[in-house]
Amino acid sequence: MFEKILIANRGEIALRIQRACRELGIKTVVVHSEADTEAKYVRLADESVCIGPAQSSGSYLNIPSIISAAEVTDAEAIHPGYGFLSENADFAERVERSGFVFIGPRPESIRLMGDKISAKAAMKAAAVPCVPGSDGALSDDPKEILAAGKAIGYPVIIKAAGGGGGRGMRVVHTEAALMSAVTTTRAEAQAAFGNPMVYMEKFLENPRHVEIQVLADSYRNAVYLGERDCSMQRRHQKVIEEAPAPHINRRLIARIGERCAEACRKINYRGAGTFEFLYEDGEFYFIEMNTRIQVEHPVTELVTGVDLVQEQIRVAAGEKLRLRQRDIALRGHAIECRINAEDPFRFTPSPGRITSYHPPGGPGIRVDSHVYQGYSVPPHYDSMIGKVIAYGDSREQALRRMRVALSEMVVEGIRTNIALHQELLQDARFIEGGTSIHYLEEKLAGLDEVLKRT
Ligand code: ADP
Repeated sequence: MFEKILIANRGEIALRIQRACRELGIKTVVVHSEADTEAKYVRLADESVCIGPAQSSGSYLNIPSIISAAEVTDAEAIHPGYGFLSENADFAERVERSGFVFIGPRPESIRLMGDKISAKAAMKAAAVPCVPGSDGALSDDPKEILAAGKAIGYPVIIKAAGGGGGRGMRVVHTEAALMSAVTTTRAEAQAAFGNPMVYMEKFLENPRHVEIQVLADSYRNAVYLGERDCSMQRRHQKVIEEAPAPHINRRLIARIGERCAEACRKINYRGAGTFEFLYEDGEFYFIEMNTRIQVEHPVTELVTGVDLVQEQIRVAAGEKLRLRQRDIALRGHAIECRINAEDPFRFTPSPGRITSYHPPGGPGIRVDSHVYQGYSVPPHYDSMIGKVIAYGDSREQALRRMRVALSEMVVEGIRTNIALHQELLQDARFIEGGTSIHYLEEKLAGLDEVLKRT
C-alpha cells in the first residue's frame, strides 16, 4: 500500500479522499490555490503545497506545478478526484512518466473513453446496448449524411466526438435542417475541442438517466455495483441522485451491469468508472463512460457498503479486487441532494462568508462537505458546497429522512438551493419515482411563472 498520496483537487472531494487515506493509514499531501489556503482539508492534511493563483488554469489545472508538488513531498500516487484533470489522459500519462501512480485508469482507457466515437465502438464490440446511430464519424458527403438521417429516423442528435459537459450537441427534427446542423456542430466542435468529428444518434425524447458503477483491477477482474438514477437535472447538471433506480426490472439491470463489467475486462480497464445510459421504454442505451469517481458515488456506497474511494486506491496500488460479483448486494435506498451556493430558483451564484452553519445528522444521514461556520465560499469554482445523503430501508424512509435533514440544516450568510430540494421532496411525481431528464426543467418553468407573479 502507498505511504503518501497527493490529492489534486479541492472542496468536498478533497476531504472525502483524505478521509479514505487516513482510514487506510496513508499520509496525505493536499495541493491548493491561493483561494483555498484556509480550507479545512488543507489544515487537516499531513502536508500542503500552494500551487498557484485562484484561477484553476494556474493551479488545479497546472500539470507541472502538481507534479513538482508530488516530487518535493515525496508522494507515491496522485488522486485526481472529479472534474479538473481527472479525465485528462495527458495528465495521467505525465503522472506515470514522472514515476507516480495515477489513481485512475490507464491513460489509454481515458483516451478511448474520452472520444465518444471510439467509446461507442468499444461498447458495441462488448455488446453494451448503444443509442442507434451512425456507425462512427459522419463523412463529409451530404448524400451519406442524409441517408444516415433517414435510416435512423427523426428527431436525431448531432454530437461532437470530443464533446463534454453538455456542449457540442444539436437536436435536428427535420431533414431540411440536417445539413446546416451538421456544419455548425462540426465548426463548433473544432473551435471548442480541437476535433471536428461528429456523429449522429437517434434523439430519445423522454429518457431517464441511469448509470452503472463499476470497479476493476489490473488483472481483468471487474464487478458492477448496481445503478444510480440521476434524472433530476438542470442544464445537464445533476441535482438529486439516488440508488437503486425506481421501477426498473432488477434482472434487466443485472444483465446490463454484467455487460459493463465484461466491457471493463475487454478493454483492460482499471479503477472506478461509470457507464452512463439513457433509459426509455424498458431499454438501456449507452451514451458515455466517465473514467473517474463521481460526485454521486456516496449513494452507491450506502446501498452496497463498499467504500469506492478506498477501492480505487487499493486497485491503483496493484491489489486484486477483493469483491466478487456475488458479494455485492444492494440493500435499502439512498438519495443525495447536492447543496449549491446559489439562489434556489434563479440559480445565480452566491459565494461569500458562511455566518452560521448547522449540518444535519441522525440515523441514515451522511454529510460530505468541507464547509464550516466562518468559511468563505470562493467565487472561482463550482458552486457545490456539499452533499446531504439520506439512507433508509426503503425509498420512502430515505425521502422522509432527507426531508427531516434539510429542515434541520442551517446555512446562513450565503444563499443555497436547500429550498429547491425541499420543494422537490414534496413533489408528487418525484415521490412516485421514475421521472425523465426533462422533469426538473419543466417543473422549474412552472415555478418561474409563480415567481414572476410574486
Ligand atoms: P456530455 O459528455 O456533454 O455530458 P452526454 O453524451 O453524456 O454528453 O450527453 C449529455 C446529455 O445530453 C444527456 O444526459 C442527455 O440529457 C442528452 N443526450 C445525449 N444524447 C442523447 C440522445 N441520443 N437522445 C436524447 N438526449 C440525449
